[in-house]
Amino acid sequence: RSRGAMARVDLRKLVNLSPATVTAITADLINDGIIQEVSGDGSPAVGRGRPRVLIDLVKDSVLVLGVKLSMNEIRIMLGDIKGNIINESIIEVQTLKFDESALLLSLETTIGGFISALPSSQSSKIKAIGVAVQGFVDTNKGDIVWSPALSFRHVSITQQLEQHFQLPVTLANDANCIAIAISNQPAYQALQNYVVIMLGYGVGMGMILNGRLYSGHHGAASEFGHTKYETDGAQCQCGKRGCIEAYVSDYALYNDASAMSLLPRVDQLHPSESEMLLLNQMAENKDLNILSLFERAGRVLGYGIANILALISPEKVIISGPGIRAFPYMRSGLMSGLENALVPELIAQTQIEPFEWQEDLTGKGVLVLALKSID
Ligand SMILES: [Zn+2]
Repeated sequence: RSRGAMARVDLRKLVNLSPATVTAITADLINDGIIQEVSGDGSPAVGRGRPRVLIDLVKDSVLVLGVKLSMNEIRIMLGDIKGNIINESIIEVQTLKFDESALLLSLETTIGGFISALPSSQSSKIKAIGVAVQGFVDTNKGDIVWSPALSFRHVSITQQLEQHFQLPVTLANDANCIAIAISNQPAYQALQNYVVIMLGYGVGMGMILNGRLYSGHHGAASEFGHTKYETDGAQCQCGKRGCIEAYVSDYALYNDASAMSLLPRVDQLHPSESEMLLLNQMAENKDLNILSLFERAGRVLGYGIANILALISPEKVIISGPGIRAFPYMRSGLMSGLENALVPELIAQTQIEPFEWQEDLTGKGVLVLALKSID
């Protein structure tokens, strides 16, 4: 799935099985309609002038659902076996007004409505559901522990949905979904140990260790945004003080800018994309106050990244999320924070790189999450 169409000979090397075994398994899967033979990839013809025959997945042989629960919105996506989004629907709901049973009922109704609107040729092929949510989750139990989109804590999600839809349901937080989506891209497949930091309405992180997403013994790793920058520092949305997120997230930056009377006060916890773009525009126009806010956000991020490097020494730190729009203004602060906090030998081994934000990255990640659950 992640490597695309390939010749049987390459597949054989990849899975380390004998030619006869690979031929037998591929024949079975072709019969089942899961894979198909496709003509060559443009490489030179081999043998007696025959084009290279590649094996590829039949795109719509298996379908999955991705569900993204965020502030006031449930987004449902239908994905094919390659993880492409082929249909989607966004339903506005007042998530903060939900109690536990209203949340579950709303999820069941919106997902159920989405499925029943599909032609039966599609709905009958849905094999799994992935759910992405902002906040802390327990991936082992399938519980949302805390989410800024909800006004209550601790809700068990996956068991109820599994019972209702009779499908496997997997839960992850949105930053982990972005890490999964990036790890599924060809350019990153050879990497074994790296982290993906997500900047935006919060600060999240997905950690890939030894080629696998690491979610910790209790399923709640890796809450980078809520590791600390400063004792008794800025107020964080999680209720504690001094978290990295309280300096780097959209709401932190926007609140600080409005406290300096540089911007009008709005819905403080959730500045909109256009309000954040206004902040960026002011940085572009070299507003020194705004530039110093971004510089500080970069420095805080640099200290946080120094801790990651010291602890796990990854090959790469990839930074993405909608907040990456301000990376040019954070870069120098980030580097100075990093250099203040860590010996150069430990910095030099890790590449730190921005990854252009794509709106669909969480959606694609949650589809891959669902697909992985049925691999
Ligand atoms: Zn926090």
